Amino acid sequence: MAERDTICALASGNLPSAIAMIRVSGPAVSELSYRLLGKHLVPRYATLAPLYGTDKEQIDEAVVTLFRGPASFTGEDVLEISIHGGPSIVEATLDTLCEHGRVRLAEPGEFTRRAVEAGKYDLVEAEAIADLIEASTEAQRRQALQQLRGVTSSVLEGWRKDLLESLALLEVAVDFPDEEDAPDYTHESIIERLEKLAASLSEVLSDTAIGEQVRDGFRVALVGEPNVGKSSLLNCLAGRDAAIVTDVPGTTRDAIDVRLNVGGYLVILTDTAGLRETVDPVEEEGVRRARRAAVDADIVLHIRAADRPSAFTDAAQWGGRTIDVLNKSDLGVDNVQSVSRETVQLSAKTNEGVDLLMGRLSIELASLASKAPPSVITRKRHRRALQSAQVSVNDALQGLRAGLGGELVSEDVRRAAQALTGLLGGIGVEEVLGEIFSSFCIGK
Ligand code: GDP
Repeated sequence: MAERDTICALASGNLPSAIAMIRVSGPAVSELSYRLLGKHLVPRYATLAPLYGTDKEQIDEAVVTLFRGPASFTGEDVLEISIHGGPSIVEATLDTLCEHGRVRLAEPGEFTRRAVEAGKYDLVEAEAIADLIEASTEAQRRQALQQLRGVTSSVLEGWRKDLLESLALLEVAVDFPDEEDAPDYTHESIIERLEKLAASLSEVLSDTAIGEQVRDGFRVALVGEPNVGKSSLLNCLAGRDAAIVTDVPGTTRDAIDVRLNVGGYLVILTDTAGLRETVDPVEEEGVRRARRAAVDADIVLHIRAADRPSAFTDAAQWGGRTIDVLNKSDLGVDNVQSVSRETVQLSAKTNEGVDLLMGRLSIELASLASKAPPSVITRKRHRRALQSAQVSVNDALQGLRAGLGGELVSEDVRRAAQALTGLLGGIGVEEVLGEIFSSFCIGK
């Protein structure tokens, strides 16, 4: 078999930086480190050494650490080279590495892909590495770390084991129908096992997509009549001018999204067109989209203005949670609007009361997130695989209850086990591997 390429890439962030870290992985690592540093390295010891280019000119002083495979991230020999983070130093180091005939720059996600191929991580854990790097909020970080530590994988592994054991029992019964020594096989015991699994799968699948929401963001929509201050409030919450603010009603025609960290949760805040009757076809489309954003949102901020009564009656039709917000409190107009204990009164102009709204939002988000147990599903890929396992488990149960033969039922059980194996990255996953790792950054 041809020797694998040795790959290298900048593993740290944007340049220039105080320190940059270049990672190298593959069979040429030992030879390379000798060539670059002029000495053999003791594994797992950080060594300060001058780093030389191919022309024997010194590039930088580096701190290098060698990890001998299989005890490394990728399972191969890995060299980590920490240098000063100047673009020309990084470029010269990568050029020098790639002048070696067996070394090339890594593709996105290739280090993690090698780690998966070496059995260091399953696919779900590898996805968690990408999520952890991209996590911008505490909830995302916690969820990704839990997934990386194998919490999700062990649940999936447990289900897969259950399926394989059921499969084995079914096949024993088929192959040795009269065998006295065969494991204790009863139709009922397999039905019971699969029923338990079906219940766990449907519990996880009915989790209202909390895991995906933590990863991709909760949708919060600003909805109300024109000119109540929706765009002003969006800008105020975003801390920048993301939406156009004018006193001409009907300015916001399409939904505008900004990403916010609210109490540790990622929120996609959407400004929408003001709800009103209109004959302008563009504005009418905006109003239609606003209604849809309200229906799709996890939380609706229903904005009213203190200085004029609201004729607005849509709120009852929204499925999600609604927070009643009375803006323009600085105008101090009493008794024009109805106010309840739940109403958040604020001014997008003076910022007064905006922190109260943030507090209310955090409470609502925390209560949404805490409704579900730690989520097994954080991506659509997981949902699809579990749905397919669920269909096969239900088919198997139906077959068993109808008294179908073991050989027919075992096909369904096998299919369910394969769906979980595919999810974890065991078999038939070549096509998903490409898709998953292409979204990684280079050097990961
Ligand atoms: P939208 O149509 O609901 O998005 O409303 P805008 O954000 O465009 O604001 C409409 C008008 O109300 C603008 O002239 C804003 O400056 C003004 N406005 C927004 N919020 C406040 C507020 O809290 N107090 C006062 N006095 N005016 C505000």
